[in-house]
Amino acid sequence: MDSFGKKKRTDLPKNPAKALLASVILLFSMLTAAGCAAAKEEPRTELSVRAQNAYMQLAIDEALEGIGLQHGGPFGCVIVRDGKVVGQGHNRVVKDNDPTCHGEVAAIRDAGEKLGTFDLSGCELYTTGEPCPMCLCACLWANIDKVYYGCTIEDNELIGFRDEDFDELFGGRDAFADYLVCIDREACLALFDAYLHMERTNY
Ligand SMILES: [Zn+2]
Repeated sequence: MDSFGKKKRTDLPKNPAKALLASVILLFSMLTAAGCAAAKEEPRTELSVRAQNAYMQLAIDEALEGIGLQHGGPFGCVIVRDGKVVGQGHNRVVKDNDPTCHGEVAAIRDAGEKLGTFDLSGCELYTTGEPCPMCLCACLWANIDKVYYGCTIEDNELIGFRDEDFDELFGGRDAFADYLVCIDREACLALFDAYLHMERTNY
């Protein structure tokens, strides 16, 4: 697994030219997000769209708080049950020196503690970036009903994260097309763009 990290870290946009290139690519992603998201997203009612936009905005706010505090990557997450937020968290890998403390894991821990149960059946999870294999499995272990994500695995890679490498270990994620649903990608790409232009610790 180290070889993945070393290979990718050299590709990170460390200098202004690379950051500019990544930014241009991200901008292109944002311009094309509507079309891409429309192809991947499932039909939703007007009411559910408004509610889901609001939950995703909370996840974005979590991520903004996290990167503002330099806790880690731009990944915020909220967990919702019966229309109420029952857990939330953001990536704290850098702050805690804990490579497992992704936004989804932080939110699952928070929801478990608040609800007093390890079984999050009936819950939906909203996250700014498509879950890595570890977080996808954590959602499945927690019995979370459905996962809504903003930016895609490919978007994660554009800002320096290695999710796709780990995906290859498991043979891809096509089997989860009904479980992982892309929404509000454009708003989450704006978050990623902000992260790309700030002081940060790559990992
Ligand atoms: Zn993760």
